[in-house]
Amino acid sequence: MKSMTGKFCLALGLLFGAAALADDPPPYKILILEDPDIDQRKVLGFVNKIRATPPYSQLGKQLAFEFVLGNKAKMDCKHPYDDIPRVVSCDSSYAADEGAKVGAHKVLNLANFTSGGGGGVSPTVGIGDTPETALHELGHSIAGLADEYEYSKSEAKFYCTMPTPDAKPNEAFFAPKLKVFPSDAMARSIHSKDIPWYDQILPATLITSGTDLGTPEGSFPLHIGRNKTVTGLYPGGSCNKLIPTWHSYQGDNAMNDADNSFFNPVQARALLRAMEKARGARFTGITLTALPTDPPVGSAATPAAPVTPTKTSAE
Ligand SMILES: [Zn+2]
Repeated sequence: MKSMTGKFCLALGLLFGAAALADDPPPYKILILEDPDIDQRKVLGFVNKIRATPPYSQLGKQLAFEFVLGNKAKMDCKHPYDDIPRVVSCDSSYAADEGAKVGAHKVLNLANFTSGGGGGVSPTVGIGDTPETALHELGHSIAGLADEYEYSKSEAKFYCTMPTPDAKPNEAFFAPKLKVFPSDAMARSIHSKDIPWYDQILPATLITSGTDLGTPEGSFPLHIGRNKTVTGLYPGGSCNKLIPTWHSYQGDNAMNDADNSFFNPVQARALLRAMEKARGARFTGITLTALPTDPPVGSAATPAAPVTPTKTSAE
């Protein structure tokens, strides 16, 4: 009798286990679409780099990869712009068809080039380039993250659609509305809506230096990030030679240096939210505010009382 009950419980457990598995939302799936001529030994290096890099490394089984050898002619990988030879791309409608066949949310083309990459709906990386390039191009493609390095003037004319490009999760484009900001509070009330990551700027973080718009560099009590900076409003970025450009976080990262594998908190959140939207379900087990590259929450990361702006307005 006792053993019968045990078996019954085991059977029930298996039943519920199977039900739970069936109800799990599908993973976010990336199809690696390979030019058949590439060096196959390099493919895993790209996938392992993605798997090892936060926030992807936090996803476990909620992130999956498939591999398909593409049709070389249909992939049609090339350098599309004579003026910007580092850009490579492959045919996006073929990539979309192959992705749909396996239910992929994103297709990463691996092209048989010694270097280069490109964003777009289905991003591309030359197999001879670094695995970090794949992180950079997926950042563009999955979350619409902007380049944070400053384009040359001709590149800016090409990429920074006039008069003003749309704000990106990690970059905003606007001129300060005042020449002199009498207080940080006033700067916040005037420009909060211009800053897509505004809700991630802590109350204690200034977005003005003296009377100028822009977070002061590196002088904060709240060192929450790997680069000893906080999420703020920093001048500069991709379109800065043409349009005043602002970015969210200081220091090297995957979007200002294609050889870097660090996504800062603003970029990581944008990636996770975009992937969740694509798969139609939230991820579980993710810690957005304390990425593995940050020190533990509690000591230096404990939010301090709001800092009084250095200059306050009369009222
Ligand atoms: Zn880029």
